[in-house]
Amino acid sequence: MTEFSQEEKDNINKQFEDLINGAPKCRKTEETAALVRKAFNVANEAHYGTRRRSGEPYILHPIAVARIVADEIGLGSKSVISALLHDVVEDTDITLEDIESMFGPKIAQIVDGLTKIRGVLKNKEGQAENFKKIVFTLSEDVRVIIIKLADRLHNMRTLDSMPPEKQKRIAEETSMLFVPLAHRMGFYKIKMEMEDLCLKYLNPTVYYDILHQLKGSEKKRIHYLNRFCIPIMMTLEQHNINYTITSRSKSISSIWAKMQKKHVTFDNVYDVFAVRIILQDVPLEEEKAMCWRVYSYITDKYTPNPERLRDWISTPKDNGYEALHTTVMGPDGTWVEVQIRTQRMDEIAENGFAAHWKYKNIDGFEQSQLEVWMKRVQASLTNPDEDALKFLDEFKMNLYSTDLFAFTPKGEMHRFPIGATALDFAYDIHSEIGHHAIGARINKQKIVALDYKLQSGDQVEILTSESQKPQKEWFKIISTVKANNALQQAFKYEKKRNIMRGQQILAETLEEKGINVSQTILEKLIQGYGVVDKTELFEKLGADEINKDKILEYATHKRKSKKILFWSFKDEEQERESPNVKIIRHSTNYSIADCCHPIPGDEVIGFQTDSGIEIHKQNCPIAIERQLKEPAQKIKWISRQEQVFLSSIQIKGKDRIGILNEISGIIAKQLNVNIRTVHIETVEHEFTAYFDLYIHDSQQLNLIMVSLQKLKGVEKVERIEQKNWQIISENQ
Ligand code: MN
Repeated sequence: MTEFSQEEKDNINKQFEDLINGAPKCRKTEETAALVRKAFNVANEAHYGTRRRSGEPYILHPIAVARIVADEIGLGSKSVISALLHDVVEDTDITLEDIESMFGPKIAQIVDGLTKIRGVLKNKEGQAENFKKIVFTLSEDVRVIIIKLADRLHNMRTLDSMPPEKQKRIAEETSMLFVPLAHRMGFYKIKMEMEDLCLKYLNPTVYYDILHQLKGSEKKRIHYLNRFCIPIMMTLEQHNINYTITSRSKSISSIWAKMQKKHVTFDNVYDVFAVRIILQDVPLEEEKAMCWRVYSYITDKYTPNPERLRDWISTPKDNGYEALHTTVMGPDGTWVEVQIRTQRMDEIAENGFAAHWKYKNIDGFEQSQLEVWMKRVQASLTNPDEDALKFLDEFKMNLYSTDLFAFTPKGEMHRFPIGATALDFAYDIHSEIGHHAIGARINKQKIVALDYKLQSGDQVEILTSESQKPQKEWFKIISTVKANNALQQAFKYEKKRNIMRGQQILAETLEEKGINVSQTILEKLIQGYGVVDKTELFEKLGADEINKDKILEYATHKRKSKKILFWSFKDEEQERESPNVKIIRHSTNYSIADCCHPIPGDEVIGFQTDSGIEIHKQNCPIAIERQLKEPAQKIKWISRQEQVFLSSIQIKGKDRIGILNEISGIIAKQLNVNIRTVHIETVEHEFTAYFDLYIHDSQQLNLIMVSLQKLKGVEKVERIEQKNWQIISENQ
């Protein structure tokens, strides 16, 4: 508790007078004005002597929130009073009963709602449940949510004085809870400002970079927009139309979103100009005709793009947005978006249906529209029978189609782009969890592989193993920057180490036999192993991804006709027990699991069953789950037997005459591999081909894939897993 200086006291009074002056609704009757003043006095006294972290008197915060509520959103005196009182029950000695006796039950109810929301937000556990609670208060009084948004907006605007980790936490919470809420309720202006502020604290480098570039290009932009607008303004004046014209400045976060989505630089984003024409004094019944009239004046001057015409007047958006949008070709061949709307539509666009409070004098209109909106929001947000997660899932569907939410087992919310996987989730928690992840348990039920695509509302428990380490293939299944950075980091070090180790292995092995490492030898090895170049050769040798026992064979290899090779496997445990390696012969009972279809060369594990050993890929999700219940045996493929395996690949690329022939030529003639089936699909010059092949091992399959990848027009070659897997014996 500290005394306020006279200067501070004067400032408090001035801020309050400014609030009253900017809020005509609070001065409608003397009684209203007195009640607002009373609320200020009660709050001012209750918060007296307390300060915000920035050092300024606390009461300035409720006054600022009340100003947002009155000025920027346009709500009336009840909301202003509630905003002034929103923190007193929680922070001071004043009780809810005091408020009810001084201001009546309605305001007490709103203040109670605001106090409850604050309570649930404080409790970090189970945010989904909290979120549901917030939204449920909607059914009591929608003003609770609106004032809460104003409260949060002001806190975001004054976040600078908070310590960095608190800034991050609050910004994260805002972006997860309040931005979607503002969006769904149609408070675009608030949503935009909140999003920009979130970006400022969550990704300051990006924020300031774009801000800087926006300022740098301002002059050029204004010059162009003037050239574009002047002919339109002249026409509108000729036709005696009362209007204002503004050029929309894209928000920083929307520019950033576009840069990411389209993979373009700032310059390419800002080429999209937008101009807004707001028509004044248009009677409600003439709005539609008037907007179309202005549309025709504009398209007389500039050619419209017919595919970019949006009529939100005939069918308003769900959240009430109305306007006519068109994109026309401006000077220098630049596309410019033009939005045409009336003053009333504009206010709805900025402030959602809350804007209708401003139109109380339009008979029957305000009430019915507001009710429709309230019902819509409630219907899409609240359903008491469903659990919080499911509810949130549906809620999200209505908000963002580009984001999804998933939860930790403790209920902590994480946000991802659509398409993110369980592995992204693991990395989002911690890079160490990501590096050691082997799978995930979804919604306490099914176990999935790391490439599982997250569904909104999923509860994700990451399963880890000490022996797991980052895999190259992971780059293909992650889609977040965080995961990518963590993986890059892990491999940078690993790669260097492997290359050095590989060089050493190669030199030592060849030296033993008196062979010098030469270009010719290296080429033979590159071909033998089916790798791209010597760097890959060293790296894979160093990483034990390719078998070093082959070095001598390949280095001294003389080209001969292909020999069909067969495989069996041995049990590693046995190998350790007896140095004379015991091989489980082909006759040993084993089966290949049809969930993951391992082939020789894959990392595999086995489970003992009544009919022998069942072999799975090491990263097979079913095997992972099974390992939780029973021990797995380490299995290694070793000697070759006369056997081939059915394996499938998928090839994608640009269609051209003869490409299928070339592909099958490489497989069948050059590499001497039998093709079982071929299936090809072509969509608009893009083909996808599926080949079922009889192959011997993963090295041979890799060789095929590398060779095909080099073909002109081929863009992607992938191994795919087939349902009807079987071992085909050569003599069958
Ligand atoms: Mn507050």
